[in-house]
Amino acid sequence: IRASASPRRPPGSAEGAGLSVLVTGAAGFVGTHCVLALRKRGDGVVGIDNFNSYYDPSLKKARRALLGSHGVFVVEGDINDGRLLAKLFDVVPFTHVLHLAAQAGVRYAMENPASYVHSNIAGLVSLLEACKDADPQPAIVWASSSSVYGLNDRVPFSEAHRTDQPASLYAATKKAGEEITHTYNHIYGLSVTGLRFFTVYGPWGRPDMAYFSFTRNILQGKPITVYRGRDHVDLARDFTYIDDIVRGCLASLDTAGRSTGTGGKKHGPAPYRIFNLGNTSPVTVPTLVSILERYLRVKAKKNVVEMPGNGDVPYTHANISLAREQLGYKPTTSLEMGLKKFVRWYLSYYGYNRGTHTFRNS
Ligand code: NAD
Repeated sequence: IRASASPRRPPGSAEGAGLSVLVTGAAGFVGTHCVLALRKRGDGVVGIDNFNSYYDPSLKKARRALLGSHGVFVVEGDINDGRLLAKLFDVVPFTHVLHLAAQAGVRYAMENPASYVHSNIAGLVSLLEACKDADPQPAIVWASSSSVYGLNDRVPFSEAHRTDQPASLYAATKKAGEEITHTYNHIYGLSVTGLRFFTVYGPWGRPDMAYFSFTRNILQGKPITVYRGRDHVDLARDFTYIDDIVRGCLASLDTAGRSTGTGGKKHGPAPYRIFNLGNTSPVTVPTLVSILERYLRVKAKKNVVEMPGNGDVPYTHANISLAREQLGYKPTTSLEMGLKKFVRWYLSYYGYNRGTHTFRNS
């Protein structure tokens, strides 16, 4: 840590861009893109990630190597490690924390509930404790999720809608995270911004997500399972391209302001904000598959089955008026355009040979 972040300043902040950011989950999909964007602007960044094995660890290592080539150090550690966090805050006076570390995925929770409690509840509290004790206290921007809207069928979802019907343990931990961060905002004056991401996709994405796993199966001629809702209604998602999400995260950091803290002068209550970050343009899963087929130039073998009751919701659609108004958030990438970029990255990253239908890198 010292080597990359001394003297009391993370690499990059000497360029005077202002922010000094601790990014948790930095080797994750969204984390990697956010770190690169912050670095590009000249902000100071240090990452932390526990490199858990929820999905292919080699992809996380490749992301870490990419970040390293841009001069960003990712500490290998767990956000539950309070001593490590205290040391980090002691070495670097972070102005902001972008908290993206979490156990993601809705279906995995059926077999691994403890992992959600570990990262999304206990880990969050451990991080908030470190933020509250830090001097200066950083402003926190963190990833909640559209899943908090659960089985709510009033669409598009807006921030004021009810969030009391989570459909999965994952959703429940994100909802709990909103309550927990709100409590730290009240009691300790921490500045908190929660971002409800809607199905994020793009290069360096998550192999557990449908668009990613479909791509591999389609290329390998293996069947894909497409869920359909009851009454034969297709599932639809408000797929949101990673660059749009990154812009929303950076705008949130820029407008988060510093918390007033317990020690410093108070300038009124610290902000507590929640925003939807979506694309506000839902697309059905069969349409997603047909766009992939076109770019991959292979027909998918579809196995259409009724959605099991394991945490998925039938439909998501973001109302983004609040983010548009307060963050200047404006998604610009259509699913067509975003998937084109994803497929280009995928074929190159895995070294796909169209002639032999083989991958150079597994
Ligand atoms: P990801 O799994 O790629 O990234 C999360 C990273 O956090 C991983 O690299 C993981 O190793 C790390 N991590 C997990 N637990 C940790 C712990 N206890 N200590 C340290 N590191 C830990 O997921 P992502 O898609 O990049 O998601 C980023 C955030 O956005 C998550 O909070 C996720 O719940 C949220 N989110 C994502 C989406 C999406 O569609 N990708 C949608 C809604 C919300």
